[in-house]
Amino acid sequence: MSKFLINKYQSLEVYTPGEQPKDMEYVKLNTNESPFPPSQGVLDRVSKEELSKLNLYPDPECKLLKDKIANLYGFDSENIFISNGSDEILSFSFMAFCSEEKGAIFPNISYGFYKVYGDLYGVDYTEAPLKDDFTVNVNDYLNTDKTVVIANPNAPTGLSISVEDIENIVKSNPENVVLIDEAYVDFGGKSCVELVRKYDNLLVVRTYSKSRSMAGARLGFAIGSKALIDDLNRIKYSTNPYNINRLTLIAGEAAIDDNDYYVDRCKEIVEIREYSKKKLSELGFTYLDSDTNFIFAKSDKISGEEYYKKLKDNGVLVRHFSNPIITDFVRITVGTRSQMDRLFAETEKILREV
Ligand code: PMP
Repeated sequence: MSKFLINKYQSLEVYTPGEQPKDMEYVKLNTNESPFPPSQGVLDRVSKEELSKLNLYPDPECKLLKDKIANLYGFDSENIFISNGSDEILSFSFMAFCSEEKGAIFPNISYGFYKVYGDLYGVDYTEAPLKDDFTVNVNDYLNTDKTVVIANPNAPTGLSISVEDIENIVKSNPENVVLIDEAYVDFGGKSCVELVRKYDNLLVVRTYSKSRSMAGARLGFAIGSKALIDDLNRIKYSTNPYNINRLTLIAGEAAIDDNDYYVDRCKEIVEIREYSKKKLSELGFTYLDSDTNFIFAKSDKISGEEYYKKLKDNGVLVRHFSNPIITDFVRITVGTRSQMDRLFAETEKILREV
């Protein structure tokens, strides 16, 4: 840290991305990426010809991509905001809708970045405890005076709340923005996006990083009322108007054209998830009932930390969180069938030795 860093940033606890060690080739089941490549259309469209245009700025409005996403979900382009990964929408939303005066509320066990943005922007935030069964306690979010932020399905638990519960939260908070982060909704969860037509305080956030196999391209989008989208644009045009690079824009457009490919890959991931749950049960693990592309699992034969470490020693990466409430668990991304079989083979070996 230099002596120049402004005081308020010195104590900031930054977000720790999932590790990407380079010392050997790992089976990577730790960051909830898709194990499948982008669709053929994406590969074809990001061409040498497009690369040769990188001397030109991208379209700051992302017009074509917005039109395609709007069309896919049955909204107008003015209801769509495009961002550099959905992290950027979260960042912009904390900037736009939360402050020291306007607090935020989110679950105590959820996506770690909410807290980081809360700290970064000096937000007075509340971390509402999950219930004993690790589900979100909906009552905590009714009639608040705060901006509500909920990942649905939640991470790293994989559990969802119902669209009815979300509607009750949105309805009871007419003076607050309710941000529903649907990063994992395409793997069997129920989207609340239709509620955007009814409520102007709901912002639904999506990402290309999981179900659209484009974590490396950094692309996310939000669907919300025109007024909320205008607010996000105020922040974007005050920070980085060209937030989406030319290649990502093209890839994002092509991915919408190839929507069926991604729907099929999500189905495949759900099948592998269900197969993996059975395998985990056979190995004596218990897990939460995931609606996502990951499984939050634990064994009473080995601690979460030891299991994570032993898997890593044997070339398989999963994610372990040190928070005492969930320290028994590991979060396992659903990979290909062969990646999962490798995980199970290593797990059998590890369990034989403990
Ligand atoms: N929300 C949740 C719940 C996530 O788990 C993630 C990925 N770690 C994100 C948002 C951010 O994803 P991205 O910035 O890649 O779109």
